Amino acid sequence: MAKKTTTTKKEAPSKPQYTCKDCKHSTDWQNKGADGSMIFCRCQFHKWCKFLNHDYCDNFIKR
Ligand SMILES: [Zn+2]
Repeated sequence: MAKKTTTTKKEAPSKPQYTCKDCKHSTDWQNKGADGSMIFCRCQFHKWCKFLNHDYCDNFIKR
């Protein structure tokens, strides 16, 4: 009797629960989308624009 052992634990990608959108530090929101939704923001801890819905940083503070 062959026993199939599937012990491959699926490692969930470490996706942040919150993104820059929820960060107190995100300022200067900019919309680059055709639908007028805000996509980019600035963070005082980063030189470049950040994605509101994707990026987060070590200095995250929930708004
Ligand atoms: Zn930040």
